[in-house]
Amino acid sequence: MDQTPFEAAPGPATAGLTPMMAQYFEIKAVNPGYLLFYRMGDFYELFFEDAEIASAALGIVLTKRGKHLGEDIQMCGVPIHAANDYLNKLIKLGHRVAICEQMEDPAEAKKRGSKSVVRRDVVRLVTPGTLTEDDHLDARASNYLAALAMVRHGDTDFALAWADISTGETFIADLSADELGDEMARIAPAELLLTEATRAALNERHLFAPAWSAIAATIPTEMADSEAALPVLRNAFPADRFDPSALSRAGRAALAALIAYIGESQKGRIAPLRPPQSNPGARVMAIDAATRSSLEILQTQRGQAKGSLRHAIDLTVTAPGARLLASRLAAPLRQAAAINERLEAVTRLVDDPLLRSRLRQDLKRAPDLARALSRIALDRGGPRDLASIGRAVSAALDLADHLGRQGDLPAVLKRLVAALGAAPHALASELALALDDELPLLMRDGGFVRGSYDAKLDEERALGRETRAVVAALQARLTDETDMRSLKIKHNGVLGYFVEVPAAHGQKLLEAPYRETFIHRQTLANAMRFTTTELADLEGRIARAQGAALEIELAIFARLRAETLAATELLQGLADALAELDVTAALAEVSATRGYCRPIVDDSLAFAISGGRHPVVELMVKAEGQSFVANDADLSGSEESGGGSLWLVTGPNMGGKSTFLRQNALIAILAQMGCYVPADSAHIGVVDRLFSRVGASDDIAHGRSTFMVEMVETAAILNRATRHSLVVLDEIGRGTATFDGLSIAWAAVEALHETTGCRALFATHFHELTALAKTLSRVANVTMKVREWEGEVVFLHEVGPGAADRSYGIQVARLAGLPEPVIARARQVLDVLEQRSSGTASSSQKASVLDDLPLFAHQPAPAPKGKDPVHEALDAVRPDEMTPRQAIDALYQLKKLRDDARRS
Ligand code: ATP
Repeated sequence: MDQTPFEAAPGPATAGLTPMMAQYFEIKAVNPGYLLFYRMGDFYELFFEDAEIASAALGIVLTKRGKHLGEDIQMCGVPIHAANDYLNKLIKLGHRVAICEQMEDPAEAKKRGSKSVVRRDVVRLVTPGTLTEDDHLDARASNYLAALAMVRHGDTDFALAWADISTGETFIADLSADELGDEMARIAPAELLLTEATRAALNERHLFAPAWSAIAATIPTEMADSEAALPVLRNAFPADRFDPSALSRAGRAALAALIAYIGESQKGRIAPLRPPQSNPGARVMAIDAATRSSLEILQTQRGQAKGSLRHAIDLTVTAPGARLLASRLAAPLRQAAAINERLEAVTRLVDDPLLRSRLRQDLKRAPDLARALSRIALDRGGPRDLASIGRAVSAALDLADHLGRQGDLPAVLKRLVAALGAAPHALASELALALDDELPLLMRDGGFVRGSYDAKLDEERALGRETRAVVAALQARLTDETDMRSLKIKHNGVLGYFVEVPAAHGQKLLEAPYRETFIHRQTLANAMRFTTTELADLEGRIARAQGAALEIELAIFARLRAETLAATELLQGLADALAELDVTAALAEVSATRGYCRPIVDDSLAFAISGGRHPVVELMVKAEGQSFVANDADLSGSEESGGGSLWLVTGPNMGGKSTFLRQNALIAILAQMGCYVPADSAHIGVVDRLFSRVGASDDIAHGRSTFMVEMVETAAILNRATRHSLVVLDEIGRGTATFDGLSIAWAAVEALHETTGCRALFATHFHELTALAKTLSRVANVTMKVREWEGEVVFLHEVGPGAADRSYGIQVARLAGLPEPVIARARQVLDVLEQRSSGTASSSQKASVLDDLPLFAHQPAPAPKGKDPVHEALDAVRPDEMTPRQAIDALYQLKKLRDDARRS
């Protein structure tokens, strides 16, 4: 939802308002663009338009409370204990929420006079990009907040800064207009901050992608000011780890905007942002948004996880591991040396299944350290977060110990041993000593410090327990004295401790001699409640003991929190190392258990895959009990020969062309992210840019037809691919008239071959294109093999040399269930067209032949085919005369006859 959270709202007419409503309006006015969760006792209440929006979005009742300017005030509320769920729903729907808390005890407010209002303030702005709680986040996905800045007279076009405040990761990149879309697609932020002016400039240059509207938030110009940025940045990061003056002007503006927005949203609490990594995109394979979507890397085109490459290969055992795997898949590397380093580490764990399984077992014990640490830093963490940090540290130490004892470790694993071994074990032992085994979610009520950790706390707790025993004794005594078995001492939040008797006995206590002892508090329908001086006194003692114990626990929490935060840098490094080890072990597990092979990766122009498979389709086909047909691809070329090869892939619809094309692109991604690949062998010269255009889609919302989208994407490929790129093109030129399409496809193949020299796979139903193999030296024709039987096609999914002369479109249409008369008529038209096009008839002659075709309406029924054993057997079947047993036998017989016929 596109919002302007910082634009000042028109002030309300405050005259004649109740003090509470005046306070509400005041707070609302400084938080425009946010739904205001206004704390009232055990509820967050929403008023006016906010109430209407929330009640519709959350399906909760809209009520009324008083009047404003003669109109009813709309109101709805969510109970505190369920607020997280409601908040989650609103954020997912794209709303932003300001959480306004009571900043003092209502009793304090009363001291200022009966009319005075409880002090309230906004303690946090909750937006899609600033989430930290597990309830709001997907554990296995990063959640980035991004800020985009543009400085017209700067040394760079744009700069993008982004951070995940739930983990502290922070990045900054200078980007050209060309790179902006790719980088945004890679990062996929949950929220994008930009000024009105930047947005206008993007729109002017047609750079503002339609998908960004849903995540854009407009920020004020001052927030993204490159001049004012330096002090903000110096304050945000330690000088010895980050030098903001090295940033471009746009870079400063973007990063400062990001930090200011986070500061604003967290209301003074400091998110544990790490010094930014610069230009991460420069080291990775460029993959544009269209390619990402068509290859279904992190999610399918329908937005689902299942069916994506990530889903197929994610065998990580921790959430941070899953997040790192996703970011590696989104950003395969571009330097052969770095890729081979990762592969070396994977190989070590592929070759040692015992070690791999032990590491994966230990990793399972490591909780999400980075997210727990972030909550602790933002003062939002509870005892469970501290315990998670302790457990992660001790798991890291065990892992370092075990891995460190192994011989011949490759560089990556050695580095991980060092990082894991540096874990602050004193902190882990302290946390383990201090925190109980069963922990409450919140620290507020205490009860999380282990007994015998702190002598003073033990003392207060014992006092509390003792006084509770005294309460029990008092109840026994009062029961005796009054002779009322049903007399009970109870406790609730409003009255505190009280004596309760059934209503029928209550009267007796109001009379002498009991009225001396029992002081009436409350009469209910079925019961009467009293107190006694002794009970009130006891209550005071219990409350004091509890208060004292709680105070000690909170002080212990604060100390443990401070000790933990003092180790922030170390812990963040540890979190990285744990995630990296998880990813390495998970990739080794995939590689070892799925029959993947280690690719040779170098700087050549090789692309030689033997026995390649599609990592996702293979799993699906296998799940159905069938086998996936492996296929070779060799697009290798050299500088001397003018570049890589281009394979023209022809074959029937449904023959497996798209699968073959995509599997090669996915193999390149897997290899360059540092994973083995689904093939018997693979040699890949590093791919700098990967382009894939598979299938048609349109973008009606943005006024672009299917053909237009296709051409825009093809243009991007032809303009941007280099000799080191891999291009996968599925059927370009289909969305227009045949000759236009064929001509465009023809020219595109020539350009890729002659100008770009990239390695390419080009699938097409324009069989005319296959003639290009005769004139272009590095173009080769391959085709998906089929077998024809009885006018039907059997897809073999096998790629072999040669060119298809037909696409079997009509057969596939028949499989899809097109009515038989339409199929028969299509065959007739096709015959005529084929006869004509093989001759030298002019188009006007063709037209006249088509005129001569019998009209569709008079289409005779399709001629019966020649005798075949299946039809004959079918003719002989008399269902009315069969027993179920005979029927099933006949069915088996029919299938057998059909299979025999196919084989012959
Ligand atoms: P069209 O030209 O109609 O787009 P296509 O030639 O691109 O079709 P695909 O979509 O690649 O065909 O494949 C169709 C189906 O065939 C896939 O969904 C898959 O189930 C199966 N298939 C493809 N390749 C193989 C293979 N190598 N082994 C086994 N099954 C395969």
